[in-house]
Amino acid sequence: MAIENIIILGTGCAGLTAAIYTGRAQLNPLVLEGSQPGGQLTTTSEVENFPGFPEGIDGFMMMDNLRKQAARFGARYEHAKVDSIELNGDIKILKAGDKTYEAHSVIVATGARPRLLGIPGEQEMYGGKGVTTCATCDGAFYRDMDVTVIGGGDSACEEALFLTRFCSKVTLVHRRDTFRASKIMAERTLAHDKIEVCWNATPEAVLADESGNTRALQVTISDSGESKEIPCKGVFIAIGHIPNTDFVDGLLERDSNGYIIPSVGSQVRTSIDGLFAAGDCVDHVYRQAITAAGMGCQSAIEAERWLAEKE
Ligand code: NAP
Repeated sequence: MAIENIIILGTGCAGLTAAIYTGRAQLNPLVLEGSQPGGQLTTTSEVENFPGFPEGIDGFMMMDNLRKQAARFGARYEHAKVDSIELNGDIKILKAGDKTYEAHSVIVATGARPRLLGIPGEQEMYGGKGVTTCATCDGAFYRDMDVTVIGGGDSACEEALFLTRFCSKVTLVHRRDTFRASKIMAERTLAHDKIEVCWNATPEAVLADESGNTRALQVTISDSGESKEIPCKGVFIAIGHIPNTDFVDGLLERDSNGYIIPSVGSQVRTSIDGLFAAGDCVDHVYRQAITAAGMGCQSAIEAERWLAEKE
């Protein structure tokens, strides 16, 4: 079996940017795409905040463009969901079902997926019909409308505060009577006159109007058992993300939420030489397309340098 120079795991913004850079560096990258080719942006209708697109760009089209751009510089694509990475000296052995790949260097850019609620209506209205997991991406589409945000952590408070820029009213729906969020975020949220908190509320269903768009969130108030409909055009789910990193368990250090912890002094190097990590599987703070692309670029340059030093 030929040993690849570099294998990139993931075809979101981080993985494809790494593919463009390593392709242009003549490293002939092999890109393995897992269960969501194109990553999280393919579920966003329009990307308005990626620099260089004054009119915005459709998320799916943007990822397709990145994919073609990397292919132009020699990136090769295969469908494979990697289950584990083992080491044989400096060689990384990747197992994906019954396939095995070997590489000198690897960039893990497997992203994260938003945690979802699993309630009726959520899937049906996800991505364009009122249910979303990203206020930064979709908030501007809800100008002068009432929305709900679900969650009680920093993400939920941040999303709610961000949405006050556009929306007429933001109802923050939390399942307990105290926030998990940091004190400063909780205080800002509670002090905002556009935000109302619905405490002790368990989301039960997203309700649709006759066109199939969101019209309300149905919740149960836990202490009284009361069932309540909160009218809203948008439901923003902010109950955390799940990084796609289980396959590096025991190999790379991860934090308690599963995010890969990079080496001290680097954003993209890991404790294993020649193994890099970029994008939302590492970054739990910014989680933007542009920051993921930036980390993809960094990881590609680091990999290129590491390979050059090895020669
Ligand atoms: P998080 O802290 O894990 O909070 C998730 C929230 O969602 C919790 O309030 C939780 O309720 C609720 N939740 C979880 N599952 C639920 C379900 N099935 N139904 C209803 N509610 C549910 O996640 P996060 O807010 O995304 O934050 C993740 C990490 O990133 C944290 O360390 C956070 O501090 C950090 N972060 C920081 C900032 C910032 O500093 N600006 C911004 C964003 C994130 P319970 O409280 O009842 O468990």
